[in-house]
Amino acid sequence: MSAGLDAIVERADALYHDIDLTCVKQWREAHGGARAVGYMPIYVPREIIDAAGMLPVGIMGGRGQIEIIRGDAWFQSYICQIPRSTIELALTGRLDCLDGFLFPSICDVIRNLSGMWRVLFPQKYTRYLDVPQNFDPAVGGRFFAHELGGLRDDLGKLAGRAISDDDLRASIARYNENRRAIEELIALRAEAPHRAPAWEAYLILYAGNLLPVEEHTAMVRDYVAAAKAATDRAPRDQARVVMLGSFCEQPPLMLVKTLERAGCYVVWDDTALGRRWPQGDVATDGDPIVALSDAFISRSPATAAKYQPEGDRGEPLVQIVKRSRAEGVVFGAPSFCDPALLDQPMLQDALDKVGIPWTAFKYAENLGQFQVIREQAGTFADSIRLWGEA
Ligand code: SF4
Repeated sequence: MSAGLDAIVERADALYHDIDLTCVKQWREAHGGARAVGYMPIYVPREIIDAAGMLPVGIMGGRGQIEIIRGDAWFQSYICQIPRSTIELALTGRLDCLDGFLFPSICDVIRNLSGMWRVLFPQKYTRYLDVPQNFDPAVGGRFFAHELGGLRDDLGKLAGRAISDDDLRASIARYNENRRAIEELIALRAEAPHRAPAWEAYLILYAGNLLPVEEHTAMVRDYVAAAKAATDRAPRDQARVVMLGSFCEQPPLMLVKTLERAGCYVVWDDTALGRRWPQGDVATDGDPIVALSDAFISRSPATAAKYQPEGDRGEPLVQIVKRSRAEGVVFGAPSFCDPALLDQPMLQDALDKVGIPWTAFKYAENLGQFQVIREQAGTFADSIRLWGEA
């Protein structure tokens, strides 16, 4: 790895392991004690937090880096891991540097977590952000714009200054740039996955949870440029796969490495999916709240994490496979994740119909043993390489 590439990945790795949010505390100090607002996966309009001069901080659970002691007391056994580790982070004081917390509606677990937050931290700003279940702009769009308008008012009060339309437009432009940079990284992975391994891309995308948006955009662009120039990274005979189901509780870093070591190039995945929403630019003219709402309504792709009342649920996945020139799909979802696991049979049927091979396993963010997954992924990759063209 070149020195430049090395340094970028090392920095991203340090942010991934910054379980105490030291970088957020440093940002606050450097910005005169400015506020920071946390949010859960998968999508919140970070533009509104940023426009208020506050730092949006994505909290993606404990990433297997903390022991869950008190978090288990708040939840029943048969649910995913991310709410337990998030409670554990909060009860151990690691989230004290956050002045507020947003819980976007994605599932009952997150909704319940938002209620617990209000009980545990009544002094902090907490909002459950309802997203529309109706995607008619005149119905769901109107509803979401109203919801975002309320959020804008609340965050303006938290920041101590009203958020102007121009503040919002400037922030939308910054996030448009960030989404473009991320698409460049995703395109590089599809084009030359040996140049930008999935585990590195995973770290680079994760850094966007903690860095101010312009800094993250610069990091992504620096990484893409350095990875493209890394001529010492030769292509290998690996199977190209899409990994699906990891949009909320994140897979352990070692799991992503394991897939590649087992012979899979992960050329597309849905980790950090909310960071790529909405697709394409959000308008920077007109009413910025309406622009954010419209973009979410019309350009956040259909996934298990977004209610879709009708249409073929499998077709978007088939298109992703074709666009990324993948040869198979790995369903890797968190244990007990209802949104991901309820969708899987429909998606698997869609793949079967067009002859795209798939395999499936479940994980938890604190999984420590990867041998079984390595064997499963290795066998899957071998079967694609040996019989994929048959
Ligand atoms: S991992 Fe799945 S079930 Fe758990 S909070 Fe996230 S979306 Fe909900």
